[in-house]
Amino acid sequence: LVNLTFEPDTLIVLVGGSGAGKSTFAAARWPATSLLCLDTYRAMATDDAADQSASTVAAAVLDLLLDARLARGLPTVIDSTALEQPWRTHLLARARYWQRPTHAILFDLPLELRRRLNAVRERVVPDHVLLDQECLVPGVDQLLAEGFDRVDRVTTAHPHYRTAAVHGR
Ligand code: ATP
Ligand code: MG
Repeated sequence: LVNLTFEPDTLIVLVGGSGAGKSTFAAARWPATSLLCLDTYRAMATDDAADQSASTVAAAVLDLLLDARLARGLPTVIDSTALEQPWRTHLLARARYWQRPTHAILFDLPLELRRRLNAVRERVVPDHVLLDQECLVPGVDQLLAEGFDRVDRVTTAHPHYRTAAVHGR
C-alpha cells in the first residue's frame, strides 16, 4: 500500500467518497492531534456531523488549525472527502505558502465495497450521495497535475485493507 514515510512537515490530504475508509485509515496511523476533520467540526457546530449547513464554519476552524500546524512544520492530515477541486487547491495553496511538501492519499474503492462499508456504519450516508461522488473521484494524474508532490492510491488490493475488511464484516 501506501509507503507512509514522509517529511515530518508534510500536508497529507485524504481524497475519496463517503465510506471509503478515510477516517478509519487515518485514526490507525496518526495521533488524533494531527487529524483535521471537517465532519468533527461540523458536529461541534451543530451536533450533526452530516449537517452541510455547517461547512463554512467547519472549514474556517480547519483553516485556523491548518495554518497553526503548517507554520510549525507539524505533520497534518486533512480528513474530508476532498472531492471538490477548489478545496484541494485551497489546501495546496496553504502548504505552498508555508513551503511544506504535499501528499494526497486517494481512496479509490469500487462503489460496491463503499456501499458495504457504508451500510454497517453508525452514520449511514444516503446511497444517492455515494453514487454522485463516483464521478468526482479524481485520478492520480489529475492530483499530480494539481500540484501534489506525491499521490498514493488505496484500493481493495491492499492487504491491510482486505484483512480489516474481513474483520469488519
Ligand atoms: P466519510 O467521508 O463519510 O467520513 P470515511 O471515508 O471516513 O467516510 P470511514 O468512516 O473511515 O469512512 O469508514 C466507513 C465505514 O467502513 C466505517 O463503519 C468503518 O468502520 C468501516 N471501515 C473503514 N475502513 C475499513 C476497513 N479497512 N475494513 C473494514 N471496515 C472498514
Ligand atoms: Mg470520515
